[in-house]
Amino acid sequence: MNLVLLGPPGAGKGTQAKVLNEGLRLPHISTGDILRDSVKKQTKFGLEVKKIMESGALVPDDLINKIIEERLAQPDTENGFILDGFPRTKQQAIKLDEILKKHPAGAIDLVLYFDSTLKVIIERLSGRLVCRNCGANFHIKNVPPKKDRICDFCGGELYQRQDDKEETIKNRIKVYEESISPLIEYYEKQNKIRKINADFSAQEVYKVLMKLFKDEHLL
Ligand code: AMP
Repeated sequence: MNLVLLGPPGAGKGTQAKVLNEGLRLPHISTGDILRDSVKKQTKFGLEVKKIMESGALVPDDLINKIIEERLAQPDTENGFILDGFPRTKQQAIKLDEILKKHPAGAIDLVLYFDSTLKVIIERLSGRLVCRNCGANFHIKNVPPKKDRICDFCGGELYQRQDDKEETIKNRIKVYEESISPLIEYYEKQNKIRKINADFSAQEVYKVLMKLFKDEHLL
């Protein structure tokens, strides 16, 4: 199964992708995670994109397309994958279709559009805590860690992403709203978009997804 998770920051794409990764045994490919890893390792590329990410803007298409092309060339993607945070522009979507023409997993099966209200997005992002070590997500109120600022899973330190600060959140939402319509249109033409109410809890959204996969004969 080849999935694209589309939707605003804070809609819960990453959370569902992690659960689906465990349940379906498909690699979870998050371009945001790949970029954050490059920034952490201070690679030449990481240094180049750090400022862009901190401002909430998008990394240029040619750079991100190269990253996804390399990632999809890895053998673990041969039986399918979950793309989280890619594509974010129509140009990226076109490039993805082009890459998949020659990929053993074939074309995208479904594009899951996580629809969430602004109030919920802001509340989720501003309270989000991420583990520096394993990338697990927590929330100050909704999913608090057992010990303050310590990851339940690996004991790593939890931090607030630089781009989850209030000013940057606003810009990320603005950037998202400017770029999403052509993407939705692109996938609507292919009849691949399925809209999901992402304001529900993670467990409820997961149930909706499982039902959808069954209805679509993907499971
Ligand atoms: P995310 O973790 O998906 O919220 O991504 C964090 C940041 O990484 C975004 O605000 C962008 O600066 C950058 N980024 C991630 N994916 C993409 C993409 N597909 N195209 C451009 N920039 C991206």
